Amino acid sequence: MSHTFTLHRGRLADGRLVDLRVVDGALTEVTAVGPGADPSARGAGAALGAVDFDAWVADGGAYRGPVDLAGRLVLPPLVNGHVHLDKTFVGAPWQPHRSGATVAERVAHERDLRAEVDVPVAHRAAALAELLVASGTGLARTHVDVDPDARLAHLEQVLTLREQLVDVLDLQVVAFPQSGIVTAPGVADLLDQGLRLGADVVGGLDPAGFDGDAQQHLDVVFALAERHGARVDIHLHELGAAGGEQLRLIAERTAALGLHGRVAVSHAYGLGTLGAEETRRCADVLASAGVAVMTNGPAGPMPPVLLLRERGVTVFSGTDNVRDAWWPYGDGDMLTIARTVAYQQGFRSDDELGVALDLVTGSAARALGAAGYGLLPGAPADLVVVEATCAAEAVAAPARRTVVRSGVPRSSVATTPVSVPDGTDAPEPSPAAPTHHPDDSAVGQGLRPDPRLTPSRS
Ligand SMILES: [Zn+2]
Repeated sequence: MSHTFTLHRGRLADGRLVDLRVVDGALTEVTAVGPGADPSARGAGAALGAVDFDAWVADGGAYRGPVDLAGRLVLPPLVNGHVHLDKTFVGAPWQPHRSGATVAERVAHERDLRAEVDVPVAHRAAALAELLVASGTGLARTHVDVDPDARLAHLEQVLTLREQLVDVLDLQVVAFPQSGIVTAPGVADLLDQGLRLGADVVGGLDPAGFDGDAQQHLDVVFALAERHGARVDIHLHELGAAGGEQLRLIAERTAALGLHGRVAVSHAYGLGTLGAEETRRCADVLASAGVAVMTNGPAGPMPPVLLLRERGVTVFSGTDNVRDAWWPYGDGDMLTIARTVAYQQGFRSDDELGVALDLVTGSAARALGAAGYGLLPGAPADLVVVEATCAAEAVAAPARRTVVRSGVPRSSVATTPVSVPDGTDAPEPSPAAPTHHPDDSAVGQGLRPDPRLTPSRS
């Protein structure tokens, strides 16, 4: 017998109040409701004859009648646009962080740690994926190391995991040359094999700064993209003019090959270190070529999110490293990442906080090329219900949320709002000017990159 019910009075991220009709685990109607049903209107809930949402969750979704969301925020599944499932130590004993002064040193530390941690990639990746799913992520792009040591071993394990998770997580896999391509013998062939095995995206890493030859590095990456019809996602840590130059090279190749909307640059720290005019020029080049930019709100130079969006660049977010050799922090929660980006950019208004939410929902889905994303009729009834009245509140103070999959509540996650250090007395930023981290003295002044600013993330 078909199971049909309505989730009444959910608040969408754009502020609309809607009823969501669910039939056999799929959304069939999303209907705007009138002001009379507003949660603040007297008696509106009782008039529906619906069970309270909390009671429905406690009941495991077994109740067959209407359910009252009472104005709770309802989101589509969150999107993690950049994670490294194979690197994590989640699911393994705690590993003290080993710092390194350069990317090369940190790659070497990671290689050592990898040999010491006696828990298989498959186990650790699954443990992190579980965290992602529990906090409401339904789509993720994971970069997976392909290098002369690991060869395809990590990739094969993550591709197997992708199959195992197919019902709960849509996983996009990047064949990622963490040790370079030009300077790492055999990696170009390994990337080719990885794409044949089923990777969706070809990665890259600091074509000039790490691999030493931007043209050769990009030749390989874009040739593989063309050969396999793959998307491209390049880690770019380079600052200042060098970073701007790499962005231009990537945009040129994207445009030349007609890959509009299929190429992303992750981090693009350099966009936070260029002068204002140069930043705008670079943003226009990226927008015109259809190159997206991923940021996770680093504690240092970062792309100016609002400016890039105003110029037409798709900006999206991901957790990046979660408790691994590069970064000891993280729980995989995309609402925490939205808040981190908002904090680092000095967002305060509801509109700005709404932008931060978009980086982990709609924009991220667009950057990853996910078709049919959103709370739309015909989509699975996969929702994240947040104890918040609007998008801004959900970003500013992530609260308890319930993950609903195929119309059934699966997990409730309590997130304790973390107090934000030293921001409360800071002066209001100028609305036109992107806000930068206090340590970021080179930002906006067109200065040469400070060699002390070592990229902290892979
Ligand atoms: Zn990364």
